[in-house]
Amino acid sequence: MSEQTLTGEGVTPQAGTGTVVWYRPDTSLTDAIDDETIPPSDRSAERDRFETTRRRAREELEAERDRTADHVGQEEAAVFDAHIQFLTDPQIEDSVSTAIDAGSSAERAVQTAFEDPIAQFEGMDGKMAERADDLRDVRDRLIRSLTGNERVNLTTLPAGSVLLADRLTPSDTAQLNPNQVSGFATVTGGRTSHAAIFARSLGLPAVVGVGSELKRIEEGSNVIINGATDEIVVNPNDETLAAIDTGTTVDVRPNRVETTDGTEIEVAANVGRPTELARAVEQGADGIGLYRTEFLFLDRETPPTEREQYETYVEALEAFPDGRVVVRTLDIGGDKQISYLDLPDEENPFLGERGIRRSLGVDEDLFETQLRALLRAAADTSGGTLSVMFPLVSTVAELDAALDYVDTVAGSLQAEGIEYAIPELGVMIETPSAVFMADEFTDRVDFLSVGTNDLAQYVMAAARENERVADLHDPLHPPVLRALHRSVEAAHRSDIWIGMCGEMAGDLTFTELLVGLGFDELSMSAVTIPKVKSNIVTTEKARASDVAARALTANTRSDVTNIINNQ
Ligand code: PEP
Ligand code: MG
Repeated sequence: MSEQTLTGEGVTPQAGTGTVVWYRPDTSLTDAIDDETIPPSDRSAERDRFETTRRRAREELEAERDRTADHVGQEEAAVFDAHIQFLTDPQIEDSVSTAIDAGSSAERAVQTAFEDPIAQFEGMDGKMAERADDLRDVRDRLIRSLTGNERVNLTTLPAGSVLLADRLTPSDTAQLNPNQVSGFATVTGGRTSHAAIFARSLGLPAVVGVGSELKRIEEGSNVIINGATDEIVVNPNDETLAAIDTGTTVDVRPNRVETTDGTEIEVAANVGRPTELARAVEQGADGIGLYRTEFLFLDRETPPTEREQYETYVEALEAFPDGRVVVRTLDIGGDKQISYLDLPDEENPFLGERGIRRSLGVDEDLFETQLRALLRAAADTSGGTLSVMFPLVSTVAELDAALDYVDTVAGSLQAEGIEYAIPELGVMIETPSAVFMADEFTDRVDFLSVGTNDLAQYVMAAARENERVADLHDPLHPPVLRALHRSVEAAHRSDIWIGMCGEMAGDLTFTELLVGLGFDELSMSAVTIPKVKSNIVTTEKARASDVAARALTANTRSDVTNIINNQ
């Protein structure tokens, strides 16, 4: 088959090759079931097909039960025992046999056999009614397996897989093992969606927002996912394979860096989980500039406890004994959904209950637990310095309420005789309102950190996940640049530091512009740290300031692009 190239938005500046595995979690099972009548001569084979599938389902359930017992707990593992019981229920078994004898396919027979038991449990109260969900799970597992629509287990993809999907959620991406998976591509999505950000933290080659063309790539095809060139090459020929640029390696600089004329810029890593700390250290990060703590809440059944969180934050501080670790309080909502928190189904979640809005409202308990853990960790002197910042703040009242919360938590810890310290406190600049109120914010906090992923989407009214408006969701648009300038000026007027932790900070083409705008710190996925540090040491601050000043006078994105490209 001939080679074909599709394009989308590259996420990680890396390439990988492998075999396509499609992930289709939303396929309707009813559509997958064939209505044909099975001739009498084939019915015994149909019964065998059911038996084999049932045996396999049982083995899978037993393995899931054991894994859950080891990693989560015995109580949670018990649900799989209930599923195994349903799988071997004699009444269901009889109904399947009868339906196959009457000419149903095995999948149609399974569907019929589960109808009555599900209806019976649905009619009951409380816990018994929940049994209907367990039955549906078992039924769907069998039908998926019989129809070849099995749910792909993202944690155990075979080595060399390239995952293709319509879309991936952040928790889907979090399950991918970078040692097994060679990359992924999605039909929808933008480079600053959280699924993409996760891919970057994992160092996984990825291209998103490819469009429906992607759906034409067949399961099992050979592909190259090239995040550096925004391309997916299907059935690459030997020449193309040989020419893949796996990226030039750059020396890791473990120490702090400065421009040629002596301005030091802190270069830190964005992380979401403890497993990412080692990579951040390896890549020469000066510290952590954004710890997205909501990722600690994914892939589990209940929120992490105060103790677990305390240990997690101390672990991060110990990874950077001479550095700063900026922990962001919970930023749930938007595209970060957490199943057990029962988030509302909002019309427009990015403009809804997100970040600090939830922490000061429905998630107040979680906020309190998190602040307790953070204040306790701030007192730990075995590691670096802890800083805490609040996400998606849009009013002074919200910021005041969050800061009051810190005082209240400190008061409780004091009363309980528990050791604590007040960390450095900061606020994210992610909304236009925060930019307009930056002078009032800087009177109240020790630092600002700009989240350009959100700031660009709110300034430009272009969703960060929507590939159709990717051109508008670009931080080089003059209004976004002016918002950055205004924030830097506000911070420096109050003599506090300002960093950037949005994806713009790790874009190698922007280093000079950001140094010129006056950012004191840049925080990014670990994978880009060596290159950004190497850009900084060859940047002259005086020249960079001139580039930034000229960019700030430009009226269009293309003028800004020309200025930063020295044209
Ligand atoms: C941002 O909005 O730029 C940011 C860093 O926060 P997040 O990407 O987690 O929304
Ligand atoms: Mg944000």
